[in-house]
Amino acid sequence: MPLTLPPEALPIGAARWAELPSSFGALPKLTSWLAGLSHEDQRAQSMEQLWGYVHHQGDVYDLTLWTVPHVLLATEHATDDTDLLAYAASVLAQREESAVPESLVAWCVDNVVRLAIERLGSGGLSDEDVVALLAASVVDVDRALAGRLMLEFTGEELMGTCPVCESEIYIWPTDEGLAVSSDDPVGKPSALRPVDAPASLTTPSIRRLVSLAALAGAPRIAEQLQCLDARTPCPDCGETVHLLEAVRAY
Ligand SMILES: [Zn+2]
Repeated sequence: MPLTLPPEALPIGAARWAELPSSFGALPKLTSWLAGLSHEDQRAQSMEQLWGYVHHQGDVYDLTLWTVPHVLLATEHATDDTDLLAYAASVLAQREESAVPESLVAWCVDNVVRLAIERLGSGGLSDEDVVALLAASVVDVDRALAGRLMLEFTGEELMGTCPVCESEIYIWPTDEGLAVSSDDPVGKPSALRPVDAPASLTTPSIRRLVSLAALAGAPRIAEQLQCLDARTPCPDCGETVHLLEAVRAY
């Protein structure tokens, strides 16, 4: 069913856009960026401006949230909508209280999850795109994890904090799954210790991520993500910690 802009959304021509604060004050070109989203030849540039000025370094203002329905609507015309979905999911994952109607936010969440799941099933995606879409696919049930995956998972370590001794845990993706270390593995790769995959997945968001990664034809990412549900010795104090809990505690 084609997406249509919900009645609570702020239309592109609304005068109110000019009154909404951003990190950069007034953004006189904002409405032209939004209009550019529906044109194939302007979309990439519009998205660059939105990432740079409206969702700068993860900032989420009311203004930022108001842009999301328009970005989602643009997926209707886009041949490659991964960046659009990543933007929408990143804003929704990092949102705080706002004056934007909850019903509109809920519409955005429902659609970003649905579109990300559809896209993951369509194949032909890079690992980076798979991770961005996976993060988007759990923005309804696990915003904290969605945000962390989006920012840190692709080709980087994921940081955790041991809930027992409170030391930092470096969590690294490997070809077989994940490995942990109490020191930065860049300087000390020998300190990395592989994490045993859990016998079963107990966290619903991890279960969803693992089955969608498999659906997307990304078995290595599925193996890495399932290890987030593992209980493994803290590399510092040796107490058993649930890796996802350590990621949340960071
Ligand atoms: Zn510890």
